[in-house]
Amino acid sequence: MQQDSGPAADLKIDQKAFLVAAKRALGAGGSRLTWDQFAARLGVEPRAMKTYRMPAESSDFRTIPRLLVEKIEALVADALKATATSGAESGEDREGTVWRPRGDPMNALPASLAALVMRQGRQVFMGGGATMVSGVDRLWSGVAGLGDEDRRAMALVSRARLTLGLRDVGAEIHELLAHCTKPLGEWLPVPSVTDGGLATVCLIDAEDRMPTLEAEELARGFAGMTGLLEEQVFAAFQDSLSKQSAKDADDYYTQVRTFVVRNPVVTRKHLLKFLAGLPSAVWVCVEQQFYEPLPGALAAGETTTLCSHCNNVMTRSRGALHCTTAACAAEHGASRGLTLPAADLFRLNRPLRKYWLEPGIDELRLAERLAARGHTVRMYPNRDTVDLDLGEGGKVGIDLKAYSSPELLGERLRRRPGGLMTYKTPWLVIPDWLARRVPNYVDRVSACLEGSPIRALTLADAVEELSHA
Ligand SMILES: [Zn+2]
Repeated sequence: MQQDSGPAADLKIDQKAFLVAAKRALGAGGSRLTWDQFAARLGVEPRAMKTYRMPAESSDFRTIPRLLVEKIEALVADALKATATSGAESGEDREGTVWRPRGDPMNALPASLAALVMRQGRQVFMGGGATMVSGVDRLWSGVAGLGDEDRRAMALVSRARLTLGLRDVGAEIHELLAHCTKPLGEWLPVPSVTDGGLATVCLIDAEDRMPTLEAEELARGFAGMTGLLEEQVFAAFQDSLSKQSAKDADDYYTQVRTFVVRNPVVTRKHLLKFLAGLPSAVWVCVEQQFYEPLPGALAAGETTTLCSHCNNVMTRSRGALHCTTAACAAEHGASRGLTLPAADLFRLNRPLRKYWLEPGIDELRLAERLAARGHTVRMYPNRDTVDLDLGEGGKVGIDLKAYSSPELLGERLRRRPGGLMTYKTPWLVIPDWLARRVPNYVDRVSACLEGSPIRALTLADAVEELSHA
């Protein structure tokens, strides 16, 4: 049957669910739609609408024509966009109420899915050992290693499909990959696909079963959901500070960020005590966006042992406990701190562990050593112009970075030196453990920074030099 091709074929078994979801989405802004009103908006007879909602086995069941499916999808997309906009505009009542994240992770769905396809394709075609399967619903065998990014992409697909009232195809990797041979618009008609001009794009070539060039293009430059999550969390935090005076916002920023670095894992009581000193919008953001209950897998029975240096979780490997903060473990031997009931504990979320905690360990180390030598140290002044400086009007501004590649770091700072350039003496400080680990680190990064006023030096050298200043 010709009319069964395209979205309708895919929708057939879930046609009623699709209509229910669409009706709900169109009525979301204000009054709820009746089926007759819904039919009127679509310009179809109420009687026809009824046949579309029938069980597929019923003799009265009719498949929704493709054009009508497209019309419904367009209406729903518009309605969702309108809801999103009005949500952003009602920011005035945000203080003290539930905070709504800015930006929709669904926008990253096509790129995220394309990146998954590229990773899986690479495993299959370059990993060796894996073979193509020519079955109908299993695309590639040997798709064993699913990473966090893959699971996030799959979860996004599930969410998108379920939101549209469609059957979940994101839960099983082979089924998902089989769908990727079809045009995105047919099975994933979300706004980022339809509005992004991607409706006709297939991520996997159905013929030769390779990722398509479009998949490659889409995946290129995609930072990953972790990066996206990071941006969202940070935007949320800046947003929560926006109601404060500049001076207060700067102070709260520094307070929160240093608290986070000192407390990657925290008891509920300790967290609430800290939050009590913050304005409600900041409070809500930190509580809801920064920390999450300690995942059960790490709970090691009923108690969890924290590192005595950095307070992060310790895990057991080869019979011994190790700190899970890389920057901490690189500098110290393992040292047990408190052992606490796991159920009481909250842990910093993954992007903040990566972007704030890991570099923060060395930033704090440097700040403490300078303070011990009598310097006035400001951490993250002016909401993070630099990592630290030596008080208002001080000449020295310091960024501390731990890129594994000195060349990449030098290149990055040459192109985007950021707040460092507002200081007369801009320093790039390299953690001692990294300088020990990578041969000629400081020389190599300095070579890349030639012609720039930024000077690279190790943490120990920075402390030494400032001790004589
Ligand atoms: Zn530690």
